[in-house]
Amino acid sequence: MKYTWSSATHVGLVRESNQDCVAPEHDGATDEILIAAVADGMGGAAAGDVASRVALAAAIAPTPEEQPDPAARVRTGNEAVLKAEAEDRTRRGMGTTLTLGMFHPDGHLDVGHVGDSRMYLFRDGTLTQVTDDHSFVGELVRAGKLNPTEAMQHPRRNIVTRVLGTPGLQVDSVELHLHSGDRVLICSDGLTDMVTRGGIEAILADTTTVTDAAWGLVEAANRAGGVDNTTVVVVDADQ
Ligand code: MG
Repeated sequence: MKYTWSSATHVGLVRESNQDCVAPEHDGATDEILIAAVADGMGGAAAGDVASRVALAAAIAPTPEEQPDPAARVRTGNEAVLKAEAEDRTRRGMGTTLTLGMFHPDGHLDVGHVGDSRMYLFRDGTLTQVTDDHSFVGELVRAGKLNPTEAMQHPRRNIVTRVLGTPGLQVDSVELHLHSGDRVLICSDGLTDMVTRGGIEAILADTTTVTDAAWGLVEAANRAGGVDNTTVVVVDADQ
């Protein structure tokens, strides 16, 4: 399988700083292993920025021996956040989401995930959310007490229930097998709070290149108000 990717990140129209982080930072293509990830930091002025940056850097760092799986990488990111927090009192309570995919040449996609950033699979014209949101409203949606549109409007939609920066963190693992023609999206909540599932699906369907898809999503979030930082990675799988 060959993977072609594009990433895009934007501060939005309201926030003063961009506390999201993304990997890879540049567009490209490979027929080897690809690691793609989005982290959305939180915790006040500078701390949220530190949390997402140190978590992502630690999680994607090359390892001398066997490749750790994505859940192990997320746990490494968690340790890095805890260490950075212990070094500076002003960082107390900081945290970050992290959604990390390892795309293997044989089409396997392994995912490690914590928080309310998301991974979606776009296959045969249909968008499916791969990860569960670790958020107050995400739990209500899974329990059938709220629909996704109500969740987007909910006053407590920004409460994240599981983040890196937590001792003994529980990490979700998901495994998929990709088909030629699949498109995968990893994104921060700056996109999904602004653009409905149908809106995201339409942009992925209407764009040919991964670059047009990635920037089309960011522009849609900003057209809808851009109240948060928006970050996306789009990966196309082709035989
Ligand atoms: Mg956000």
